[in-house]
Amino acid sequence: ALAGTIFVLDPYHEDAIELLQSKPNCKIILPNDHFKADWHELADAILIRSETHLTEEDFDKQKKLKVVVKQGVSVNNVDLEAAKKHGVMVCTNSPGLNSESVAEFTLALALTLARRVSEIDRRVRNGEIIIRSQTLGMSLFQKTIGIVGMGNIGRVVAQKWRGAMSGKVITYDPYAPEEAWSDIEHQRVQSLETLLVASDVVTLHVPLTVSIRGMIGTKQLSHMKRSTILINASRGGIVDEPALLHALKSRQIHGAALDAMEVEPPTLEAYSEFFELDSVIVTPHIGASTAANQSKSGVEAVETVFAVLEG
Ligand code: NAD
Repeated sequence: ALAGTIFVLDPYHEDAIELLQSKPNCKIILPNDHFKADWHELADAILIRSETHLTEEDFDKQKKLKVVVKQGVSVNNVDLEAAKKHGVMVCTNSPGLNSESVAEFTLALALTLARRVSEIDRRVRNGEIIIRSQTLGMSLFQKTIGIVGMGNIGRVVAQKWRGAMSGKVITYDPYAPEEAWSDIEHQRVQSLETLLVASDVVTLHVPLTVSIRGMIGTKQLSHMKRSTILINASRGGIVDEPALLHALKSRQIHGAALDAMEVEPPTLEAYSEFFELDSVIVTPHIGASTAANQSKSGVEAVETVFAVLEG
């Protein structure tokens, strides 16, 4: 039977915790437990999300760690080389698990920004009487979306856009095989510039790699139409933030909705200039944060820990 000490270092959904606690021979340490700091000594497995950063030093210090499971589909917060060096497995959720939630949130961001929902709500709460004829939004019906990265999330965004907006889909992804989304009506282009020039909404669904860092900078922003909305619900660092701030202030593009930023969580200190603009929406990386999704991905992460410890 499975036995071991499992540390949960970041908050997990209660369904995942319940499942963990259902194993009789496992010792479970939760995030608010004061033994938490002892994981280097005691843990056979740890469960994290994006809050905990695991460095080379952590892997040097640990005594018996077999596996790190990160809830989520990508890991930017673990030194994978160091883990490998010490023979510690690093696992994530299965690809695609978050796709529905993040794609749904992407559309929510586009609509909120285009129809000025959060801005107008803010103004109403401030006691302002809104003059509707002077507060017009932008309709997204039949507009063109440019999807950068047609992986698990990008594809669902494409489907939803076709269904909800009856709009055109332009895609740029030099790597993903076309068969994967042949059922979705779209126009695949061979350069990012072609996509940027033609899109009303540009949405990013690429991983953050060394070569993708700063993919959307001054030059790329200058290719977009003045009426374009930029959405980043992927990773901070993909958009060059000073360049974006400049493009927004000079009204080079219509607006930006950002769920992923260089500094997370996004603070007033880091982003006060962005926060002054009504053409910006900022959310703290909540694209995958629905109750159903957190339960599903937390439970899957726990099952992965069990599977590894059971060998
Ligand atoms: P995925 O790996 O399934 O898809 C990524 C796609 O990007 C692939 O098809 C790949 O070919 C393509 N790509 C790689 N380099 C490219 C380039 N230079 N130009 C264009 N395309 C390129 O990943 P996914 O699951 O769809 O996730 C996409 C992004 O969303 C990731 O950055 C992920 O971390 C992020 N994400 C965000 C949230 C959130 O809460 N906001 C939640 C989950 C995932």
